[in-house]
Amino acid sequence: MNVYDSARMSDVLRPLGYQPVDLPDAADMIILNTCHIRDKAAEKVFSELGRLRLIKEARAAEGHPTVIAVAGCVAQAEGQEILRRAPYVDIVLGPQTYHRLPEMVARAARAGGAVIDTDFPAEQKFDFLPDTEAPQTPGNLTSFLTIQEGCDKFCSFCVVPYTRGAESSRRVASVLAEARRMAQSGVRDITLLGQNVNAYHGEGENGEIWDLPRLAYALAEIPGLSRIRYMTSHPRDMTDALIEAHRDLPQLMPFLHLPVQAGSDRVLTAMNRGHTADEYREIVRKLRAVRPDLALSSDFIVGHPGETDEDFEATMQLVRDVKFALAYSFKYSQRPGTPAAGAPLQVPEHVKDTRLQALQALLREQQDEFNATLVGKTFPVLFTGEGRKPGQITGRSPWLQPVHVLGPRHLIGQELSVKITERLTNSLSGELVEETEYA
Ligand code: SAH
Ligand code: SF4
Repeated sequence: MNVYDSARMSDVLRPLGYQPVDLPDAADMIILNTCHIRDKAAEKVFSELGRLRLIKEARAAEGHPTVIAVAGCVAQAEGQEILRRAPYVDIVLGPQTYHRLPEMVARAARAGGAVIDTDFPAEQKFDFLPDTEAPQTPGNLTSFLTIQEGCDKFCSFCVVPYTRGAESSRRVASVLAEARRMAQSGVRDITLLGQNVNAYHGEGENGEIWDLPRLAYALAEIPGLSRIRYMTSHPRDMTDALIEAHRDLPQLMPFLHLPVQAGSDRVLTAMNRGHTADEYREIVRKLRAVRPDLALSSDFIVGHPGETDEDFEATMQLVRDVKFALAYSFKYSQRPGTPAAGAPLQVPEHVKDTRLQALQALLREQQDEFNATLVGKTFPVLFTGEGRKPGQITGRSPWLQPVHVLGPRHLIGQELSVKITERLTNSLSGELVEETEYA
């Protein structure tokens, strides 16, 4: 979502005469777009700001002013702290106010002091942003599109409801218009984004509320959009209608990110996730029944307060039962202000380390197994660029692995059948079945 937000910030600044440059030393303005989800992400902001200060000082010595802005969720949660620890920062803005960035730039120039805007305004920023110059980079075949933001679920460990604000969905017309612009400029593979993307409930033309499956059917009508994905989904909002959309729409890619976090009901309850491990298994069963080639990825947290060895073993068992094609796993990180941060029975660091290693080894094994099952199979690959080796072109599989084949450059931009011949560490290689473009 930060990648998408950064692109939209460039869109708002373009009318003011700004354009992206490659290196911070050449920039009149530097925006650090930040993440607050784990402690490590937040700490990185301060070390990065230290580096930017040196750039600002060096440029000032040559007579060039530099505006430094901190955007995103660290700005939202720690705005005052940023100004205290890094007084050379000029602008601090939260994730819901970047449509006001031009005004902040003007105010910062006038005031000569820091400007801070971390409101949760009543208006939707999407109504105030200029049309995307989609695709965000010309020639892009893939793009993100935010449709929903914020969260009201309040999992025990998570800062998102506090930093991104309350759950809110973007209007249907605005989403469809942006998707059409993207498709017209060449985007083929679109990823709908939201903290709880499948809780989408956007307002339609006559005040009707649309859910995600209804939106997916409408997006599937847009010529050119041959691949539709969405993330991140919550198991609680994985409705039967959405599962049926996976049955009906070939455009919905057979790869779903569905975080489960843990496999023990006791921990799931402590996390306030609102479902059991068996309910998760049941959702997976239903999805695979309608779309047998569907692969899953997930997020896991080890060492949530109160997690015992037995609880952890339940997580390992869930992983063995479900089998994931990909997963992200993290040690529980205490986030100030969240319910779990002050909970008793915090798990010692070395226990978290051991559990994380065991889980990651199992998940890695499953990822390799999944990739191995693709060897010998034939499926469509969307070619996005040249490969590393001469004569090679590279693309994305439906499951997002990079796929390399020998082929001419003019095939870039097309979706073609590839037979997989080999599994490499993080990619696949194969050969073109024939040079016919998919409809
Ligand atoms: N809305 C999504 C997840 C958003 S946060 C969901 O409910 O699944 C992305 C991931 O970061 C989470 O799935 C979780 O695995 C991880 N995460 C969030 N807070 C964390 C914390 N305090 N410590 C460790 N990992 C965390
Ligand atoms: Fe955080 Fe996701 Fe839980 Fe919301 S549902 S509180 S974003 S982990």
